[in-house]
Amino acid sequence: MNDACVLVVNAGSSSLKFTVYSNLTAANADVAATGQIEGIGATPRFKARNGAGEKLMDERLDDTVKNLGGALDSLARWLRSMFGGIRVLGVGHRVVHGGSQYHKPTIVTPQVMNDLRALAPLAPLHQPHNLAAIEAVTQRMPHVPQVACFDTSFHRGQPAVAELVPLPAEIRAQGVQRYGFHGLSYEYIAWVLPRIAPAVAEGRVIVAHLGSGASMCALKNRRSIDCTLGFTALDGLCMGTRPGSLDPGVVLHLFQGLAMTAHDVETLLYKKSGLLGISGISNDMRDLLASAAPAARLAIDYFVYRAAKEIGALTATLGGLDALIFTAGIGEKSAPIRKRICEASAWLGIELDEPANNIGGLRISRAGSRVSAWAIPTNEELMIARHTGALLALF
Ligand code: ADP
Repeated sequence: MNDACVLVVNAGSSSLKFTVYSNLTAANADVAATGQIEGIGATPRFKARNGAGEKLMDERLDDTVKNLGGALDSLARWLRSMFGGIRVLGVGHRVVHGGSQYHKPTIVTPQVMNDLRALAPLAPLHQPHNLAAIEAVTQRMPHVPQVACFDTSFHRGQPAVAELVPLPAEIRAQGVQRYGFHGLSYEYIAWVLPRIAPAVAEGRVIVAHLGSGASMCALKNRRSIDCTLGFTALDGLCMGTRPGSLDPGVVLHLFQGLAMTAHDVETLLYKKSGLLGISGISNDMRDLLASAAPAARLAIDYFVYRAAKEIGALTATLGGLDALIFTAGIGEKSAPIRKRICEASAWLGIELDEPANNIGGLRISRAGSRVSAWAIPTNEELMIARHTGALLALF
């Protein structure tokens, strides 16, 4: 690699995921290293691989790594030891919420940070940590420009009805609208689609981003026209620890009938519901698939049921369907879940190619299938690197 790089950071509550890119161009980039520091504040561990997937590092860090700042210090030390005098030309961050104001990736300034802090209550699990990482980089590398890339941006430009939350105007004026999330993942899929599936790329496509957070996006001509996540990342599909769509009357009941506090309701909705809440066993699809417990089966049944229902709804918004694309952890790796969702959507004209599905794609539907199905690995980090490079005029 050359001596200059772009660092991409995705900071969570207890982990810092990173990718170091070199030779960045508009079309591609080399991965010099990618990995994560996990268990921050508890038992931190540093793992990294090179672009070929070979292990570069897998070590327990000492307990002094108590926050994102400490994790960044470890990362900086490791980068120096690995790559000597490497220059970081820019740092690109995944930021979950850009609100109604930020329709595009943006160079970080103090004003931008103020705007983004105000959005923290709309994404309490992610936004504070995303912003803490930006602050920690600012403190350590004040002269390195930083770019915030939002999970919401790709969805701006949706039809007015798709963005609407049907409440009175004075409430909507406070920023209460549907924003949609996982936008960097959908943007990547929309970007690679003409190369992978040219016949359907400009058509009516549903992308199912099924990770620990899960959503679906309706793409028409490679633009988002609807998303199952809305004002917050709680709506739509059943997720690892979030319920997805919920009658708002249930939330009222939690407050009024069960006298729960706002904090407890927030914890319930973000951390204790979904697959974990239904099964009482795990939020990880692998554990549920391996379990014989009826509650695990019910959680999987609901996950599939909800996914099929949302596919039907998004097909209606698209006026038909040409392709269904699976991506993210479950979507990329779980053949049984893809099979069950495709079978539940067979009425749309999806005919699964089982051997292709078991191998894992890219095309997982039969040649004659009226609606094609695909499993395409996402790459949000590459999108962040490209946006960072473009905004900082690095190519
Ligand atoms: P995140 O949403 O946290 O970025 P991912 O997109 O990597 O994470 O998805 C993580 C989830 O993917 C895990 O919680 C797990 O449920 C699921 N997963 C990963 N591998 C498999 C697999 N082989 N089979 C089923 N589920 C899987």
